[in-house]
Amino acid sequence: MAGLNVCPMCNSREIGKINRGRFFCGECCHEWTIETEGHITVYRITSDGTIVRLRKGNNPTNLSTAAC
Ligand SMILES: [Zn+2]
Repeated sequence: MAGLNVCPMCNSREIGKINRGRFFCGECCHEWTIETEGHITVYRITSDGTIVRLRKGNNPTNLSTAAC
């Protein structure tokens, strides 16, 4: 999974790299990290700047739109 190039939450290609193993999505305002084993941890950035850790597998349709 090291070559993941779409958002794991919304499958957008509007993603950027923050640093090694850490990425963000410009579409749904989520960030995620990819660990060496390929495990993905997704974080949501809320409108007040709080970072909320999400578990991959949550239904994305339950997430309201985040403010970037
Ligand atoms: Zn996304």
